[in-house]
Amino acid sequence: LFITLEGGDGSGKSTQAGLLADWLAGQGRTVLRTREPGGTPVGVLIRDIVLHHRGEVAPRAEALLYAADRAQHINTAVRPALDRGEVVIQDRYLDSSVAYQGAGRVLGGAEIRDLSLWAAEGLLPHLTILLDLEETVARGRLDDANKRFDRLEAEKADFHSRVRASFLELAAAEPERFLVLDAAEPVDTIAATIRARVATLLG
Ligand code: C5P
Repeated sequence: LFITLEGGDGSGKSTQAGLLADWLAGQGRTVLRTREPGGTPVGVLIRDIVLHHRGEVAPRAEALLYAADRAQHINTAVRPALDRGEVVIQDRYLDSSVAYQGAGRVLGGAEIRDLSLWAAEGLLPHLTILLDLEETVARGRLDDANKRFDRLEAEKADFHSRVRASFLELAAAEPERFLVLDAAEPVDTIAATIRARVATLLG
């Protein structure tokens, strides 16, 4: 079972990924909890480029770096885990590329989706959890935590509204793959909804 979490910065993806992974492990499942960018040793190098040299990287080069990270990650970590029958819980996947590079950097959603699917050997998740959050709330959360505020501050508000709109469009286009949740809800409420959906998938 392949589960991805998507949403903007500060939407609580890693908190929910951790809670879901713990719950599944408690049920005796073997879980691979991973992320993009940076889910492999090669990916850690790519993550450093895309996050810490952002100003120097041209938009198309950025899109290709995310695709390279994904190709390495799917081929060497995710597919092998799925082949072993494990549950993969992944923070960000191709929907992030469509939203950030396709819509945010205006490279075109269809082109980025095709590139991402090629990189990912066509692998789509069984379930994608979209933690949708209004930007003002996300900003407040990051500010409160005194964490990553600069990153969000540095990028324009319209970039983030394009990203959010793109995630919601992707979810509307594939309602059977997506579970869209309001990330402003309490952590426990969101976790319970996610568990209920995953339980039905596991049968
Ligand atoms: O969620 P995580 O901290 O790994 O995201 C790192 C950053 O990378 C995010 O702030 C997001 O803006 C950016 N990102 C991106 N394009 C992607 C994935 C992440 O710009 N495809």
